[in-house]
Amino acid sequence: MSATPSTVVAVGAGQAAVSAVRMLRRRGFEGRLVVLGDERHAPYQRPPLSKEYLRGEADLDDLTILQPSWCSANDVELLLGTRAERISYDTSARRVHLAGGGEIVADAVLVATGVRARRLPGIEGDRVVHLRTLDDADRLRAQLPGAGRIAIIGGGLIGSEVAASGRDLGVEVTCLEAAALPLLGQLGPAMACVYADLHRENGVDLRFGQQIESVVETSSGVVVRTRLGDVVEADLLVVAVGAVPNDELARASGLAMDPVTGGVLVDAGCRTAIEGVFAAGDIASRLDPTTGRHVRAEHLDNAGRQGMAVARALLGQAEVAEDPAWFWSDQYEHNLQFVGRPRADATVVVRGSISDREFTAFSVHEGRVHAAFAVNSGGDVTAARQLIAAAVPVAETMLADEDTDLLTLLDTVDTVDA
Ligand SMILES: Cc1cc2nc3c(=O)[nH]c(=O)nc-3n(C[C@H](O)[C@H](O)[C@H](O)COP(=O)(O)OP(=O)(O)OC[C@H]3O[C@@H](n4cnc5c(N)ncnc54)[C@H](O)[C@@H]3O)c2cc1C
Repeated sequence: MSATPSTVVAVGAGQAAVSAVRMLRRRGFEGRLVVLGDERHAPYQRPPLSKEYLRGEADLDDLTILQPSWCSANDVELLLGTRAERISYDTSARRVHLAGGGEIVADAVLVATGVRARRLPGIEGDRVVHLRTLDDADRLRAQLPGAGRIAIIGGGLIGSEVAASGRDLGVEVTCLEAAALPLLGQLGPAMACVYADLHRENGVDLRFGQQIESVVETSSGVVVRTRLGDVVEADLLVVAVGAVPNDELARASGLAMDPVTGGVLVDAGCRTAIEGVFAAGDIASRLDPTTGRHVRAEHLDNAGRQGMAVARALLGQAEVAEDPAWFWSDQYEHNLQFVGRPRADATVVVRGSISDREFTAFSVHEGRVHAAFAVNSGGDVTAARQLIAAAVPVAETMLADEDTDLLTLLDTVDTVDA
């Protein structure tokens, strides 16, 4: 868009929308700002839902990322419990049509509708829980401490965070994962084994290659049967098998969708093909200028950055340089951080001690760092991000040597190439 818009509507009151709106006001946007969210809660961050909040160590106030009082003070219209159904367009304006009637006329619209928990057909019930929203977390939080045993379908990030929180609360946990190892695609086989060990040494009964045959609710719990013949009895079943995009509004509005990721196709600045309409966060399938591919990520940092990219685009400000993907997880006493996009053909170079649970595993291909997995080694992450972004050649021995200051490797381009 050429001129700064006078009305901006953000659909979806999550991290991406909040980041956009906050930056717009911070940078002096004086027009009308409307945030529509179909949940009834003030915007909140989701990561603690499987961690501190689930364990009862944080409350709702700690999670809130956009206080109604801030909205009043900053003239932001926060419409909660309000679902948008469709955006229509004409030459001068976009119209956001609300469920139950009514519309808001806008110059620019941000689609930030996120994703929802994937359901397994036929697996629902009073003792079956999914985890995406605050309401889901409240339900799980109310039942978890009293549950002697839980079963979890899915050993991905959310499944394993719930497993860790459950163990912290003294609950017996059985986790059924379909793949041969947890987070295999993200970590590769060597580090996925280390990740599995973290859970096993904390008492999680982790089982792999498990497809679910049936789930039966009894008067006192659930019985899960798998195709390998395992029978798991539990008081509660958590289904954590990924997420699907909340794409109804985008499809009803005729936005181009990515057939691979299921997200809304956007360029590097989060613009859709329709002028004045943007998408950001978990719903957006954004062009990665480095690879030329569209990527849809489900991580907080990604949502925040994309929300801010939309704000900059609306203000006519320059795009900022790309940063490698980054996300974190806290499980037991461990802080885990993941940077970059690993390759299946990479070599793993370990810096630090795997047995002490204090190391960074660099994924290196043709002398360049592509990804890093840091366990209790947050200090390596800044350098890892820069090494990935700069794509400088590095010597594996220096990466592994804890006496090497990783930041100095950014200066080695001449010596290593020579
Ligand atoms: C339990 C859990 C733990 C997580 N832990 C981590 C972590 O440790 N690290 C990390 O990096 N990331 C983590 N994430 C992921 C992170 O929270 C998401 O990437 C982030 O919330 C995405 O933000 P978003 O704004 O794109 O979408 P969301 O936060 O999902 O917000 C979208 C909002 O839009 C609403 N909406 C949808 N359709 C409409 C409509 N038509 N009209 C109005 N409103 C609508 C949705 O109900 C939702 O409230 C976690 C997620 C969960 C669920």
